Amino acid sequence: MSSWWTIEEFDREWRSVVHHFNVEDHPWVVEKDQTQSMWAQAYLTGHFFANVRSTQRCEAVNVALAIVLKGKKTYLDIVRAIENLIHQMRINELNENFASSQTKPFPMTKLDDIEGNAATLYTRASFELVQTELKHETLYRPISPPVEVGGSRTYRLTKYRDPEKMYAMVVDVATHTITCSCMKFETRGLPYRHQLHVLKLEELSEIPKSLILSRWMKEAKLSAPSFVDEYVHPELKQMS
Ligand SMILES: [Zn+2]
Repeated sequence: MSSWWTIEEFDREWRSVVHHFNVEDHPWVVEKDQTQSMWAQAYLTGHFFANVRSTQRCEAVNVALAIVLKGKKTYLDIVRAIENLIHQMRINELNENFASSQTKPFPMTKLDDIEGNAATLYTRASFELVQTELKHETLYRPISPPVEVGGSRTYRLTKYRDPEKMYAMVVDVATHTITCSCMKFETRGLPYRHQLHVLKLEELSEIPKSLILSRWMKEAKLSAPSFVDEYVHPELKQMS
């Protein structure tokens, strides 16, 4: 989902779509209407889901299995196809580890310091998510000078050509903790466009410790127990 809606925005859009297609009484719509708090991003915001939907991994495996099992007729064919798929998934994991530890990602923004810092901290897959957010931070601007009260500074941001979007960003001056009214960080756990824009306004060159969750870091990957190595070919082990 590319949009990040508040509950009010989501409710307005949902009612508009349902009304437009005249499906207020359709059983699927009624069921979804009653369970919005379980599936709609607007209602789930603020709860940490490690940047994945609960069914996402299962869906990906199901799609991959459907492809490799297509046309297989015997039990042996199916077992071999599943073994090959698992083997390929392990190779992908090793390649991700190798890319994270042995290669440098290509910089794609002008915020060299922050992007370079992110590249040293995060695994390659997580870094690419942060890099995408860095590319989008230019869409935002403050609508007034920051207001300083006590130990915090508050910025009000809006989005380019979307003035109805307003975000209140509060920076703890001592720790550089940055909280936002949209609570996207609390949900996804990675620094995102609003925070990265405020990092720029604050003239920071590194991602503050308060915005770094260890689960996304290379260090976490290195210290995690590996259940992969003992099953892979020795040549592949040497790659990692
Ligand atoms: Zn935000």
